Amino acid sequence: MRHFVKASMLVASLLLAPTTQAGDGDRLRAALDGATPLIDDLKYLTDTIGGRPMGSRANERAVDWIASRLRDAGLEVTTPAFDLPRNWVAGQAHATVTSSSFSFEPTFVPRVYSASTEGNVTARLVDIGLGTEEDFARVGDTITGAFALVHTPVLTDAAGLAGLFSEYTQSYFAKARAAAAGAKGVIYVSSRPKGLMMRHVSVKAFENTLITATIDRENGLRIQRAIKAGETVTLTANITADDTKGGSARNVIAEIRGSERPDEVVIIGAHMDSHDLGTGALDNGTNTSIVMDMARQIKASGIVPKRTIRFALWNGEEYGLLGSGAYVAANMDQMDNHVVSITHDIGGGRINGYFVNGGAGLLEETNQAMDVINDRGPFANFVAPIVGTDNYDFMMYGVPNLVANQEDATYASNYHAQSDTFDKVDLIQLKKNATIAGHTVLHFANSDWRGVRATGEEIAIMVEASKLHPSMDSFGLLDAWIRGERGLNPNAQKP
Ligand SMILES: [Zn+2]
Repeated sequence: MRHFVKASMLVASLLLAPTTQAGDGDRLRAALDGATPLIDDLKYLTDTIGGRPMGSRANERAVDWIASRLRDAGLEVTTPAFDLPRNWVAGQAHATVTSSSFSFEPTFVPRVYSASTEGNVTARLVDIGLGTEEDFARVGDTITGAFALVHTPVLTDAAGLAGLFSEYTQSYFAKARAAAAGAKGVIYVSSRPKGLMMRHVSVKAFENTLITATIDRENGLRIQRAIKAGETVTLTANITADDTKGGSARNVIAEIRGSERPDEVVIIGAHMDSHDLGTGALDNGTNTSIVMDMARQIKASGIVPKRTIRFALWNGEEYGLLGSGAYVAANMDQMDNHVVSITHDIGGGRINGYFVNGGAGLLEETNQAMDVINDRGPFANFVAPIVGTDNYDFMMYGVPNLVANQEDATYASNYHAQSDTFDKVDLIQLKKNATIAGHTVLHFANSDWRGVRATGEEIAIMVEASKLHPSMDSFGLLDAWIRGERGLNPNAQKP
């Protein structure tokens, strides 16, 4: 009897599954929960291909590999190229720190888009503390022509995403003041102790013209003690980079056509590029592998969504959100048909909801999506415009957008660091996140909800009300917004 009941239930579910949305969701969930190549893909991307900064051979290899994996899974795949304003690939870097009583060589890592030195450049180091207005007032014009040594609080996992944003803000204001005061460069003390180094992008990204670098925390603190004791300390920097105007990079775009409303697009993206001291596991190999796996499992399960789903593996995110920006620019005439853009880029911690931006009813629709999968929760969705990942251009052209929020886990301490490697990823959580992310995308692809694109006026109000200017400027985005070149700005000041 028991066997009979089970068999008949199975028959019933087989009959129902292909004809209902709920059946699609269940099938996708079972597929993503089951044995898939998700973890093997992450391992290959990080351990075998490794760090993949835009412009590098590893980056090209990663693009080709992702495209071929998705083609093998039966998806339609393109790798559209986009032009770069500036292409910067790290070369050699070396520094010597000297006073009347010592000379040593710290670990020294230029930021992306740092000026090269064309040989040695020597200048005095001025301890500028945290780089506040008071700090700059204290040192007066001694900063002109000198290197500003900027202290940075330790970024711990406990500080999490909030700590990360505060480091960005601090770094932005310190650099802006140093540039205004005519400093030769900005040398940041590493925010990670015990010699751990990271590579960030220079504040203002490809518009940066200063020498910008990080030195290891222990030597940074040693220099600060010497300056405090009254010693004159100089730093000699030697930085080379392959730094050229122009060039190109490629995104990977895969697609499953919708059955009922093929012209309406739900786009889910994660950036596949990374910094190169580590291997870009938490940032953003985890979510790259998740997007690949959901594409593969939707296809393999024979699910045909009502709307078209585009799976985007963005390039050049780390260097100024370049790949997603190029996609929006190249497909501007289709933006009305982009129902929602979803971005995943906050590591390997549990997905605990979405940052929601734009479109009446988007929050309610996202809440409904999460309700269906609430056994994987709790989830909480927030209305918040996020600047700093690939939702940016969608947001600035009014397209409703979501950014997955994730628990901090080990994201902050390994952020852009040598230690961002495969072993830091919680693989059990990775599987669970793939299921949550896949479920959310399929929900929007099958949903009847349709938002309205924000107008330029609404976007301008959001930028002001949410005080987005400093973060936009720190990523090199503000000037383009003001000029009306990136974003729907009704008050644009054309040059
Ligand atoms: Zn990232």
